[in-house]
Amino acid sequence: MLVVMDVSATPEQIEQVVNVIEAKGCTARPIPGGDRVSIGVLNNAGPLDASLFIGLPGVKDAVPITKPYKLVSRETKADDTLIQVGDVVIGNGNLTLMAGPCAIESEDQALTIAGHVKKSGAHMFRGGAFKPRTSPYTFQGLGEAGLKILAKVRETTGMPVVTEVMDTQAFDLVEHYADMLQIGTRNMQNFSLLKRAGESFRPILLKRGLAATIEEWLMAAEYIMAQGNHQVVLCERGVRTFVHHSRNTLDLSAVPVVRKESHLPIIVDPSHAAGRRDQVLPLSRAAVAANAHGLMVEVHHQPEKALSDGAQSLYPEQFDILCRQVKAIFNVSGGQEPF
Ligand code: PEP
Ligand code: MN
Repeated sequence: MLVVMDVSATPEQIEQVVNVIEAKGCTARPIPGGDRVSIGVLNNAGPLDASLFIGLPGVKDAVPITKPYKLVSRETKADDTLIQVGDVVIGNGNLTLMAGPCAIESEDQALTIAGHVKKSGAHMFRGGAFKPRTSPYTFQGLGEAGLKILAKVRETTGMPVVTEVMDTQAFDLVEHYADMLQIGTRNMQNFSLLKRAGESFRPILLKRGLAATIEEWLMAAEYIMAQGNHQVVLCERGVRTFVHHSRNTLDLSAVPVVRKESHLPIIVDPSHAAGRRDQVLPLSRAAVAANAHGLMVEVHHQPEKALSDGAQSLYPEQFDILCRQVKAIFNVSGGQEPF
């Protein structure tokens, strides 16, 4: 159930609705919108009667939410959500470019790549300090030393930084250093991690699980929002299919579907979808043409020496071309209504 308040509703009237919801043993979640507040009713055991709310002063309407994801759904919030990371705004009307190496390897490596991607037009820097690797014998990331390098990158370039948090034990640490926390594909349904992310004061970048349906992915975002953190950006990064010509299959249909179903921004990671450099540029162009709100791209100045994901990392000159091309596409398609 969503209780929609009048544009002119007072804080006291909103509080009265919250009290009625709580008296029913449910959780009230006020959602500020562009011009009015709505109040989501969560944790109700069964359907609630709209007449509980209609007629209360300041209430415009009370409508049932038909989707299993409630706070994530456009039924709850019709206007697009904008997420602020440092001075970068992610969401409708913006094309946010995040770029950097798969893993932070050294201060020199990170600062060199950051200098390149910033010059080309990246808004945010990415790089893993805690790496989820398939093999336990490969580079696992620099840990806290990597986070300190990320902070140095922010200090030097002014770009906000995004990095993965792999478990609840490291959450406080990553939250301390990073501007945005990434939950990776392998952790999309790690429910204790999602709940901790929901208590965070930082925006969260939630990647789609390796074989997750869009509904499962949106439910994972719901876990974060249900704990009170409404700053969630979704990231399509390819799903596992039968093909061998790419590491995963980029599901670009997720972009219009998510934009229709949810008010949250959605970006695309073509690098982990492709797994190889030669597909990254065409997939990036397609993602922006499909109205993604941004891209996350792996870039390395010496990919042949990279400690992880060198094969999919663009050379800085290739990223420069990518930026120019996707900005041109965004200027044609980004300002349009997606549907
Ligand atoms: C990453 O972005 O560093 C990463 C490991 O991606 P994914 O979780 O999509 O595999
Ligand atoms: Mn990677």
